Order: sequence, then C-alpha cells, then structure tokens
Amino acid sequence: EIPELSVPQFVLGGAAERADRPALIDGLSGETITHGELAFYVERVAAALHARGLRKGDVVAVFSPNTIWYPVVFHGIAAAGCVISPVNALYTPEEIAFQLKDSGAKVLVTVSPFLDRALAATEKSPVDEVIVMDGAEGHASLRDLITADAPAVQVDIDPAEDLITLPYSSGTTGLPKGVMLTHRNLVANVTQSRPLAGVDEGNERIIAVLPFFHIYGLTVLMNQGLQWGGAVVTLPRFDLEQFLRVVQDQKITRAFVAPPIVLALAKHPMVDQFDLSSLRSITSGAAPLDESLAQAAQDRLRKGASEGVSVGQGYGMTELSPVSHTTPEVGLEPAGAGPTPKGTVGYALPNTECRLIDPATGEDAAPGERGELWVRGPQVMKGYLNNPQATAETLDGEGWLHTGDVAIVDDEGRYTVVDRVKELIKYKGYQVAPAELEAVLLNNPQIADAAVIGVLDKESGEELPKAFVVRAPGSEISEDDIKAYMAEHVAPHKKIRLVEFIDQVPKSMAGKILRKDLKNR
Ligand code: ATP
Ligand code: MG
Repeated sequence: EIPELSVPQFVLGGAAERADRPALIDGLSGETITHGELAFYVERVAAALHARGLRKGDVVAVFSPNTIWYPVVFHGIAAAGCVISPVNALYTPEEIAFQLKDSGAKVLVTVSPFLDRALAATEKSPVDEVIVMDGAEGHASLRDLITADAPAVQVDIDPAEDLITLPYSSGTTGLPKGVMLTHRNLVANVTQSRPLAGVDEGNERIIAVLPFFHIYGLTVLMNQGLQWGGAVVTLPRFDLEQFLRVVQDQKITRAFVAPPIVLALAKHPMVDQFDLSSLRSITSGAAPLDESLAQAAQDRLRKGASEGVSVGQGYGMTELSPVSHTTPEVGLEPAGAGPTPKGTVGYALPNTECRLIDPATGEDAAPGERGELWVRGPQVMKGYLNNPQATAETLDGEGWLHTGDVAIVDDEGRYTVVDRVKELIKYKGYQVAPAELEAVLLNNPQIADAAVIGVLDKESGEELPKAFVVRAPGSEISEDDIKAYMAEHVAPHKKIRLVEFIDQVPKSMAGKILRKDLKNR
C-alpha cells in the first residue's frame, strides 16, 4: 500500500506528465517554477552536493523563510541521500548553533538576509560550508549548484531505514528534540492523508504560509501539495492582508493553516474586502481550535462568495510525520456517519491505530472518557536523535507513540484533542484545560485574542487559571467583566482567577501560543 520509493521519487514522480504546469509560485513576486523545472533543478542540486563530497546520511541544515527555492533544496538534498535538518527562521545564533551541533550538520544552506545569523552560528559548529541560495560574496549559490557540470547521481535509498529529515520539535515543553524521520515515514503519511482529502488532482492551488521549517509546512504543504500535482504558492510569513490578496489573486483552493489564521478569518474586518470564492477547504492544525471559532470562520466565508468552503482540522506532531488524524472533506465521511463536528480533529488516518490511556491506571480509558492518546502506524518516527531517554519515554517497545496529549473519542470514531497533559492546570483536584478556557474567552466579541496559563499560588499551593487578554478594537472590557463573563460560562473550578491585558498573544510562526513566554513575563 505504501509505495517503496524515496520521497523525491514519490513526490516528483509525476513531474514529466505535467512538466509545463506551475509547481511553485512566489505569492509576492509571481516568480514560478514548473514541475519540469523542479525535477530538473532537484537532480542538478543532488549531483552538485554529491560532487562536493556529501554522501548518504550526511546532514544538511536549511535556514530560510518559505521561498519557491526551499522545495528545490529540500528534494535536492534528499535525492543525494542526505538528511535535511530544517532550522526555525526566527532562531538566534545560539539556537541555530545548538541544532547544528546536535544534528552534526556538515553544510548549512541559507539566504542572504539570514547570513549574519548563519555565520555567527557556524563559528563554533561542525559546518564545513555555508551555501547562500540567492548568492553572497564568497559563498556558493543555488545557481552555482544548478549550473555546475556535475555527473548525475543515483543514490540507493532504503526508504524504511534511511532518514530524510531531522526536524526539531517546537520546543513548547522543553528543549527542541531532533526527530528522526525516514523516507517511508513521509511517503506513508502523504499516502495516508489522501483518501480523506478529496483531492482534485492537478488542479489544487495550495497556499504555503506556514513555515517549511516546521513539519506541518515541510510535508503537508510541500510534499503533499507537490505530490497532488497542483501548485504551491509560497508566502514568507503570515500577514493577513497579503494572505487574503494571494488567496484572491492566485485563486487558492486550499489553505492549511493554524488557529491564529482561523481567528483572523473569523474576526478581522478586512476579510470581507476580498473575493475568496476559489477556496474550497481550510484545514487547521498545530494547536487546539474551538468548534465555535471554526464555525464562525466558515459562516463568514460562506456569506462572502465561497459557498462551498469547509473548515476542518488535522492533528499531528513532528514525531508523526506529522499527521495521525484529520477531518474528512464533506461527502467523504465513513458510510453512515453524519457531518463531522467542527471541534473534532476527525478520524484516525488509514493504518493508524489509536488508544486512549487513563493516566491514573495506565489502562485503556473507559469508553467516552478522556485519556492520553497513543498512536501506532507507519508514520511514527524512528526515535529522537542523541536522546535515548526521551525516545524510551515516548515510544514504547510495541511501537506506540505516547503523544502527551489528552483526547476523547465519540461513538463514530471521531477524536477531540483536549490539551496537552503538561499544560493542564491543577486546581483543587481538578484538571483544567487552558484551551477550553481560551475558547470561551474568544467567544466574547469584546475579546480579540486570549491565552490561559496556570500560575502557582504559593499560599494555597494551587495553580490559578490566569487569562492574558487582548481587547477587541474599541472595547473597554474590564478585569471584573471578564471574571463575571467566565463565571457565567464555566464551572466554578474553571473560573479565571487573574487577568492581565496585553497587546498581542505571543505565538510561534507555526501558530502555537508561546506559554513559556507568558510564564516568564
Ligand atoms: P515540543 O514537543 O518540543 O515540546 P511541540 O509538541 O509543540 O513542541 P510539535 O511537534 O510542533 O512540537 O507540535 C505537536 C503538538 O501540537 C501536539 O502534541 C499537540 O499538542 C499540538 N497539536 C497539533 N495539532 C493539534 C490540533 N489539531 N489540536 C490540538 N493540538 C494540536
Ligand atoms: Mg511535542
């Protein structure tokens, strides 16, 4: 069922049939790479890397925002049998240096605006060479690689054993961990995701606004998007106006996004000024998304011209290549099942086994009860790099990945992710999920954005739910108003005990709330 191919073979295999059609479009400049050019450039980059002495298993770090050249580099490195370690575009030199050392990267590929940070990071690291995609004095450029007179290479890749990428987890709960993913992991995950997606082969136009350096952008957007044979339209970062303009002008059919973008689509006045009627499907992942917010975004878009658009969710993690659950496109629900409720992350993908484990007993949770989600399937990582202890804690001897997330499943087999085990606020013997309180806060039209954390009260030893709130434009909602509003909507143990007003909720480029930053304020 899973093709025995390397990722470049699998993703670019159909390139010859659609050689003249656009594969990658720069959302800002319009610059385009066709499927045929992509396949050609990838082959050239692989040959040039091989000629420079890189061999199977060598690690190449990529430190760049989304550009149409990122996929060229990604697949070029992979076709040479090397392993891509994508670096977060916001990292400081110290953070980059940690990843370069931990991954043992031999080459770093970057872009000229990032060169200062890249060079500062490589001073004390094992990197032999820095390649600058768009060129810089004293460094090889992507053009140099593509035009080099290097003989083509055929590297023997064992998809089940050989690594293609070493992404680092987001570092939400600790230091980022290097995740070892094989070619087979990624090929499996793209294959598994297809049946529920309802792909219009060759005609999808996908907006790639989430970063390629995070697993979601790296494979859901890039590999899946290219494998489906349509076009992937890149944006370097999320800016609402740019995003809406590109959806309109490029006639985007699908957007894979994170909750902050759904929030903007639901609440921001600017949305109504654009024609978004080409959009058919929006999938949110990377962090919890509340039902009413998803519904509000969908209703709003349908009031415009995109009557057929549906807002769904996917759930995953770096360790799952990254998807284990997704909501089906409308009409693709399993036989007999009704429409998928918006708050759920949908069904387990084909070949994906799930268990919910009661943390108190270590046994399977009773039907309808919450438990820690365990996942087993071909998308489960090989392990963490240089971290046998973390691997042993996360991946058990029977192949179950312990996700660290609390979930619940309904009678139809649809999962809802409650929150992370580690984020649950312990209050008077209860466990309060920040995501649930955030969802209630966001339902208040006077609140533009919100985040909740537990703050330890030294006297009582309890964690008190504290809300960080961004007021909606023109709103003067007070601390007491917010406490009263919450008291009306949630059980007494979930009440918000502290409120702080802020200008903006800190979030990662992948769309996660940076709770660590809030805790350290
Ligand atoms: P680290 O593991 O380094 O602490 P991280 O877990 O944030 O960071 P990722 O692998 O990028 O790193 O994110 C995976 C996590 O994102 C999941 O474990 C889950 O908590 C959250 N997540 C992803 N999709 C969803 C979703 N649809 N709903 C709720 N949470 C989600
Ligand atoms: Mg994690």
